[in-house]
Amino acid sequence: MIQNFQGMAKRLVALLRQQGITNERVLQVIQATPRQQFMPESLAHKAYENTALPIGKGQTISQPLMVASMTQLLMQHECKNVLEIGTGSGYQTAILAQLVERVYSVERIAELQYQAKRRLKQLDLHNISMRHGDGWQGWQSKAPFDGIIVTAAASDIPHALMEQLADGGVMIIPVGTVRQRLVVIRRFGDDFEHKQLGDVKFVPLVPGSLA
Ligand code: SAH
Repeated sequence: MIQNFQGMAKRLVALLRQQGITNERVLQVIQATPRQQFMPESLAHKAYENTALPIGKGQTISQPLMVASMTQLLMQHECKNVLEIGTGSGYQTAILAQLVERVYSVERIAELQYQAKRRLKQLDLHNISMRHGDGWQGWQSKAPFDGIIVTAAASDIPHALMEQLADGGVMIIPVGTVRQRLVVIRRFGDDFEHKQLGDVKFVPLVPGSLA
């Protein structure tokens, strides 16, 4: 079946607007990014529904509204380099790569990372560095980061990520286990300002070992 992906992408963006996304650059990039390429082909017909979808290995591609909200929060601050924890499908990575100078992305499941790398290359996005590693450790050698975005829920805020945040930088992170909340953290020198936003639902940020 031939799908009208462009029409579907337009309708998704209209929905995101209704749901409070106002950043035109973010909306434009979402409209132009082929989400169907970031999931198994059998699910492509659902690519522009506002839902998270399975991508294998028990993981999901995040819901478009969540990607848009977190990206919009990040874009309220000047971010040149962004660290993403949890590459997953690479979709959030692709969105960020079109908005900031350089994206660093860490994923613990090698196979997902490999697939994401291939997709991002196909889309000609080259301002991305990827690492197979444990997100709890961040990416020390590339720090500090103006922005950090975590796309899996952490039981508490990883210390390494706080340390790797630049002065004036912003981190967006879902925190909690049974109940998760989106938290925005800003760094001012040695002070960290925390703001709790609404309830969210992410797969867990797995502690320790790689897969
Ligand atoms: N942004 C992604 C979300 C993927 S789901 C997308 O929209 O596709 C979250 C991802 O975090 C999963 O791929 C999972 O493997 C990864 N993850 C979980 N714990 C991790 C950890 N400790 N370090 C790095 N990645 C982790």
